[in-house]
Amino acid sequence: MKTDLTGRTAFVTGATSGLGRRFATVLAEAGAAVAIAGRRLERLESLKAEITAKGGKCAAVALDVTDARRIAPALEEAEKALGPIDILVNNAGMNSQGAVLAISDAEFDQVMNTNLRGPFLMARETARKMIARGKGGSIINIASIGALRVLPGLTAYCMSKAALAMMTQCLAREWARKNINVNAICPGYIETELNSEWFHSEKGQEQINSFPRRRLAAEQDLDGMLLLLASPAARAITGALLTVDDGQSL
Ligand code: NDP
Repeated sequence: MKTDLTGRTAFVTGATSGLGRRFATVLAEAGAAVAIAGRRLERLESLKAEITAKGGKCAAVALDVTDARRIAPALEEAEKALGPIDILVNNAGMNSQGAVLAISDAEFDQVMNTNLRGPFLMARETARKMIARGKGGSIINIASIGALRVLPGLTAYCMSKAALAMMTQCLAREWARKNINVNAICPGYIETELNSEWFHSEKGQEQINSFPRRRLAAEQDLDGMLLLLASPAARAITGALLTVDDGQSL
């Protein structure tokens, strides 16, 4: 899909691995200046070097999305380096696997703080800036098929993603007249550091064989949806929960 994002600035959370890394690269290749954020600084620096070596504009920003005090300064840093943010990709997330009776309070809180509170704080602070500037923008939340149906053994994860999906719709409604589009991509299973161990286990292989296409989706399968939502072609798409799962939930 050819999309020209020249002159736009994107901010991608959780860009140090997996989908976030891919999103940052794809947005940069489409011409956007990209702020990449995460906790593992050496990975941010190597991705920045990769993007700039290909002629892209990139800034690396240290950010733990559970640290509320870092949200505004991180966005400030990005805007200082690259200009006002037009596109926010709320991608940082974590998994939590196991029976409900075995989940500790601390783990539950960490999942909610990472997958829900972090994206909320990021969206709110970014929208504050977008509204002040008056040009609108696009907020893309990375949810999951677990936002829409039960994934056994992933209760806290599904709860956090379902709330993120509702947040997407609430924010889309609240900021509709500010020309801020808020959408969620709900991906199916894609092998990344989040789940690689599971999919290499016997039970993980069985799960793959239960999917209609007997395969995992690939990182690049989200490129089209990401670019569409980041582009002006998505003017009338807001509050949408867009499943991209290779038919896994059918
Ligand atoms: P990875 O584990 O590969 O990447 C997760 C990213 O999130 C890392 O870059 C990590 O960076 C970042 N992150 C985690 N916690 C924090 C935090 N507290 N503050 C800032 N960044 C954080 O997983 P994926 O790429 O697979 O996942 C990306 C998103 O996609 C997640 O929201 C996930 O739920 C969602 N998703 C993934 C699916 C899949 O099958 N892979 C399916 C559906 C949704 P660092 O550690 O450097 O901070």
